[in-house]
Amino acid sequence: MESLRRRQPQIRASSRSVEVPSPEIMTVRGTVPPEALGTVAMHEHLWCDSLKAAGNERHSYGTVTATENQAILDDFEAVLQDLRRYKSAGGGSFVEMSVTGLYGDPATVARLSDAADVHVIAAAGFYVDAAIPEPFRDADVEQLTAFLYAVTTRGFDNTGIRPGVLKASASGPDLTALERRAHRAVAKVHLLTGLPVSTHSASPSTRFEAAQGTGGLSQLDLLEDEGVDPSSVIIGHCDVAPDIRIHRRLAARGCYIQYDCIGKEHYVSDTTRTELICALIEKGFANQILLSSDRCRNSDLSSYGGLGYSYLLEVFVPMLRGQGLKEEVIHRLLITNPARALTPTRNREIGATTYAGNYRRRRKRRES
Ligand SMILES: [Zn+2]
Repeated sequence: MESLRRRQPQIRASSRSVEVPSPEIMTVRGTVPPEALGTVAMHEHLWCDSLKAAGNERHSYGTVTATENQAILDDFEAVLQDLRRYKSAGGGSFVEMSVTGLYGDPATVARLSDAADVHVIAAAGFYVDAAIPEPFRDADVEQLTAFLYAVTTRGFDNTGIRPGVLKASASGPDLTALERRAHRAVAKVHLLTGLPVSTHSASPSTRFEAAQGTGGLSQLDLLEDEGVDPSSVIIGHCDVAPDIRIHRRLAARGCYIQYDCIGKEHYVSDTTRTELICALIEKGFANQILLSSDRCRNSDLSSYGGLGYSYLLEVFVPMLRGQGLKEEVIHRLLITNPARALTPTRNREIGATTYAGNYRRRRKRRES
């Protein structure tokens, strides 16, 4: 973190000689083949502490003060208990999305993964502008790229634990300048490493703003502009802005649509979520839907009276069956789609060159 500037030349040198990416998926315990993941919750937290975020007072939560609304998840035994229950309910893997600005703890996450024998894929990247600490706030795209690339190759803070996903975040439909730089950096590191990109498309605290639902489109525009193929992009928190027209527009461009606030009925009811999912499937996008519940504070855990990680499988999946979804389709949403979405892309540099040309042509068509 202290040496953003010094790391830069190394990145430039190594970007010329990128090794062929492993088709395996990087977890906090090492690589596993995609078929070993089983059921995957695509956007969760096992450990985070947003109270530490330098700019937290910049958050606005209406009548709720910033300190009352922190994403603090730091009770090892309570997390472990819910993780074990998720496994008993049929869960196999988690994607842990606590990136820079959310103060995750990869070493603790690895201990939890071991203790519960659940695969955990860690994310590297950046949370929303207001939470991003110094020295990243003034960093340019190259510096952010250098930092992130170093994490993907050397691991988090000398732990040797490496990420399997890259994350970019937007605090509303219009990204801030810092968020735009973070998206470009994530795109560049994707092109170097093949790791998939998973986004936070709008903060739940700005959900009225996000109801316009265009945040995901702006994110995809930026990533595509850098040469990222949408098939490597997961637009997260789509259910916070439940506008099926936007979800269909996104899906038609080839990215994944992630409904990952399942159980958070103060945003949107779970019945609405099942309707959105069925509507997308009807339009032929069953292979692009991903699910999760984004548990991010102690009060989300069952020991504290919350719904826990297993709600997704114990309550929500039966609701999907109630809507008439066949087992084969549910298998795709929970197992096949995550395995495909999390597998690193091959030949991405060659692909990116071709892709950038295609993107410019498609953008012209959209604009005309
Ligand atoms: Zn999250």
